[in-house]
Amino acid sequence: MKALLLEGSKTLTLRDIDAPQPNAAAQLITVEATGIGGSEYLGFNKPGIRPLPNIMGHGFTGTTANGKRVAVYPLSGCGGCEYCVADQAQLCADWSLIGVQTDGGFAQKAAVPSAQLFELPAELSWEQSVFIEPFANSINAWELSGASGAQSVAIIGAGSLGLGLVGLAQQAGCKTIHVADLSANRRGAAKTLGATQTTSTLTETYDVVFDTVGSEQTRQHGIDCAKKGGQCVFLGFETATLNVNIAELIRYQKQLKGSFVYSKRQFSDAITLAKICQDTWVKNISFAEVENVLHQFLAGDFEHVKVALRPNGVA
Ligand SMILES: [Zn+2]
Repeated sequence: MKALLLEGSKTLTLRDIDAPQPNAAAQLITVEATGIGGSEYLGFNKPGIRPLPNIMGHGFTGTTANGKRVAVYPLSGCGGCEYCVADQAQLCADWSLIGVQTDGGFAQKAAVPSAQLFELPAELSWEQSVFIEPFANSINAWELSGASGAQSVAIIGAGSLGLGLVGLAQQAGCKTIHVADLSANRRGAAKTLGATQTTSTLTETYDVVFDTVGSEQTRQHGIDCAKKGGQCVFLGFETATLNVNIAELIRYQKQLKGSFVYSKRQFSDAITLAKICQDTWVKNISFAEVENVLHQFLAGDFEHVKVALRPNGVA
């Protein structure tokens, strides 16, 4: 099979390798669509916790040997600790993501434990299916925030994480859903899903602000735009640290929260939420185009709503 191997920082090589051999508890999946997002361009830049060579791509969907269309739940843990038992495997000491610590969807085939496969509804397109994994992140952040319809919500970044949050805020009946993004294309998608205001930066203060980007600048902007008594929820990983004025947080009683991946239940809910997406938001690309797209992301070009690798072509 063909696979894109991350062999070092900014070193991605297309190779012909043997397809993985699934054990009795796993299945060989023919990969149909792999979302390319923050984890991939950050991993391309700095492999970090990825063992090299690594086949990236943790948000992917495909077909089983008997023709079932499935989404891959990439997260696993030890299965026995307090976090795993509570469906919070991301907090397990042995947490692992397919496509990060192990091989993922930047390949024509992938071996996936049967317990981590979720069947897709027939009406969900492969293009819509690439929103499932990011939307599961959005659902976790939304639930952690405890936001309700009565509140004003702001979302920094209208990539797939941000769009999932727009959909959830719309479904909750939020009257103010302000989305900030530099791309007119992404702002248009946010409008379609129910954003009440779309601009390049936030202009007011809100009960809840979600930062899906994770740069120092967007994090600070998020904290500044949270109302007194409000909260800011962080999903993006662009930088590791932030210099925060704690005295101000105390005085204004602002809460800061981190949100990392999702439970199996939230992933299942994301399959339903992905139906709000439009196929035209996805740019389908081949193996040959991946490296260029990752370089574009690193250079700050996020014009497309979502980019998906189609390792076996587009049927
Ligand atoms: Zn565990």
